[in-house]
Amino acid sequence: MKYDVVVVGGGAAGFFAAINIKKRKPNAQVLIIEKTNKLLSKVRISGGGRCNVTHHCLNPFELTKYYPRGQKFLKSIFSQFAVLETIAWFKSEGIELKTESDNRMFPVSNTSETIVNCLLDLANKLDIQILSQTEILNINYQSNEISLELNNLEILKTTYLLCGSGGVNVQNKISYLKSLDLNWIPSVPSLFTFNIPNHPLLELSGVSIPNGKIKVVGDKSVFEGPILITHWGLSGPAILKSSAWLARKLSERNYNFDILVSWTQSDAEESFKQKLYDSINGNNQKKIVNENFLGLPSRLWTLILEMAKISEDKICSELSNYEKNKLIELIIKMPLNVSGKTTFKEEFVTAGGLDLKEVNHLDFSSKKYPRIYFCGEVLDIDGVTGGFNFQAAWSTAYISAVGISKAL
Ligand SMILES: Cc1cc2nc3c(=O)[nH]c(=O)nc-3n(C[C@H](O)[C@H](O)[C@H](O)COP(=O)(O)OP(=O)(O)OC[C@H]3O[C@@H](n4cnc5c(N)ncnc54)[C@H](O)[C@@H]3O)c2cc1C
Repeated sequence: MKYDVVVVGGGAAGFFAAINIKKRKPNAQVLIIEKTNKLLSKVRISGGGRCNVTHHCLNPFELTKYYPRGQKFLKSIFSQFAVLETIAWFKSEGIELKTESDNRMFPVSNTSETIVNCLLDLANKLDIQILSQTEILNINYQSNEISLELNNLEILKTTYLLCGSGGVNVQNKISYLKSLDLNWIPSVPSLFTFNIPNHPLLELSGVSIPNGKIKVVGDKSVFEGPILITHWGLSGPAILKSSAWLARKLSERNYNFDILVSWTQSDAEESFKQKLYDSINGNNQKKIVNENFLGLPSRLWTLILEMAKISEDKICSELSNYEKNKLIELIIKMPLNVSGKTTFKEEFVTAGGLDLKEVNHLDFSSKKYPRIYFCGEVLDIDGVTGGFNFQAAWSTAYISAVGISKAL
């Protein structure tokens, strides 16, 4: 049998694309091929089982700023299908999304099953065929059809192929597309946390700072946001952001690098220094341990005093110049050596994938193989944590679905 469209990958992008093709072209023969026995497995586990569907950033241009890779490319994509359209799409299927205080958006039901069931039910209703536990091993692109070689030795034929096969693994990279002349950007992990083995900070596991700052030594970017101390090192939005934006550089350094941590936000740094000077010059007779100028968690303040070798009982006005400078350094530029990374369990993605120069910006069709389209994480597009990666999957899947529907 020959299909009109075969979608590779039963993930968020593959399902969303197949559904949107069938909504436009109800008579098209559409098949999803999934190599595992689990459909939508990442959607199910995403967002700690709640599925962070998108992020409440309604301005498409602002939205692109959350994507370390693909930013320029996404401008025209998001002007067609972004957060508002995603909210409306799920609403039209009876699913309301809610916004949390950090702007992440989840189904009101608070469970990813709502999204999984919505996509599975729609696929069923629209008569999309699904072959699971079937892997595409190779393809043969001819002028009028594409032959797909499956792991069960069968050969399937299709007019259009939509690749939504997810993040590319460096080892077994895009093996089913090996016969095609396509340029792939090597993949490296993004969205991970930093290990700081054997550092005394680890004793403070669980302590979090609402506004901190991270700078990787040797790079000029600064990343602000909450920082969380874990059993292994540092996590939280400031760390995850830096892991995403510097994914390739940190991989080149084999995850061994130095960072400078500020335990407060930029605009509080000067007032902290001023308070410290005033305390010394104004003859402040309080013990330094009780003069936690920035209101840091008390365990962190005590540790910083210990690292600065300042006795907790020391009277503020008696701080030496050396001690004052040491305190300033440890509060606004604490040097730490990062050795290794830990996967951020809530969400991880790969940076890298199909070079965006390979696809037409209007519909994600391949420039060299016009009947092959791409969507989702297989493309060299990835966002920071917070719902941006699913948003890229919904948007790229939608645009490629419109493209294929027009071509059909
Ligand atoms: C634990 C975790 C939690 C996450 N949470 C969130 C979140 O809350 N919010 C967010 O925005 N992002 C989240 N993400 C990221 C998000 O899940 C991905 O960006 C998104 O799933 C990408 O969708 P996709 O369809 O492109 O790829 P995938 O979901 O990876 O789907 C691709 C599918 O293709 C199949 N496949 C691959 N090769 C073949 C082949 N040759 N033949 C047949 N099938 C094949 C794979 O088995 C897979 O099922 C999370 C990721 C993880 C790992």
